Amino acid sequence: FDDRTLHLIFNFTRTPRGVFIMWRDQTETVRFEERRNAFIAELSHDFRTPLTAIHGYTELLMNNHDGNEKTSKMLRHVKEEAERLDRLVDNFLDYQKIDYSAEQLTVTTFPLLPLLKDITESYQAMSPNHEVTYAAPPIHIQADEEKLKQMLHNLIGNAIKYSPEGGTVHTQVEDQAGIVTLSVSDTGIGIPADALPYVFDEYYRVDSKAHHTIKGTGLGLRICKRIAEAHGWGIHADSVYEEGTTFTIELHARHASSYVRTPPYAKR
Ligand code: ADP
Repeated sequence: FDDRTLHLIFNFTRTPRGVFIMWRDQTETVRFEERRNAFIAELSHDFRTPLTAIHGYTELLMNNHDGNEKTSKMLRHVKEEAERLDRLVDNFLDYQKIDYSAEQLTVTTFPLLPLLKDITESYQAMSPNHEVTYAAPPIHIQADEEKLKQMLHNLIGNAIKYSPEGGTVHTQVEDQAGIVTLSVSDTGIGIPADALPYVFDEYYRVDSKAHHTIKGTGLGLRICKRIAEAHGWGIHADSVYEEGTTFTIELHARHASSYVRTPPYAKR
């Protein structure tokens, strides 16, 4: 018992009649945690080693084959799928061990446009049957660039994954009177209103036939939320079922200087 509880018991009974002592052996719990962490570290290594080899050999083959267009296309597919697996491993294994607290962020100031351009172009190349676009003013922002990239990969990746071919995925950055928002919208299968409050929960997946036919871990949005919170940003989802979804990050909050307008800006 803590002091307050003891105080309450004594005051309630007036005269102390005895003391309860609760004792729980934590050894097994601690051992389990240690075993779990060691297992995750090992698994992470076991996944990454073959992936590095796949990346290396694919690059080598891409640069040294006979120039046949069909071979190039197949190698590009191998590369893209390996990159997808990279992200799955990142999401699943890093989630277990990465500390997403504010103290662990590596914050620098960088321009947003080149980052959006790179990500959008790579998704457009990987998903030629979707239209992947972006629009943003030329602002610089203060953030952990790698973590922001991970958020964008999760959001744009989802937008494509949950949209049928022919769909549009648009990333829009807006600066309205100093409040900067970044939103990723799609014209996909949408999220039913009763499921919307839970999409940022750990391992949550929307329970509908359309969602179940698409593979996922239910971790991507949880990771986005944790990264947003570490930065002091807000994140929320709006959706119309069977019409489309928009995820919005509010890049304001903690520091008034969360973004700066005038490039060039020295790195911190
Ligand atoms: P997953 O790996 O399952 O996609 P996420 O955490 O990224 O995990 O998303 C959680 C759930 O929210 C998904 O399983 C899906 O049901 C739903 N969801 C996420 N993004 C979208 C989207 N753009 N359109 C429709 N549903 C989505």
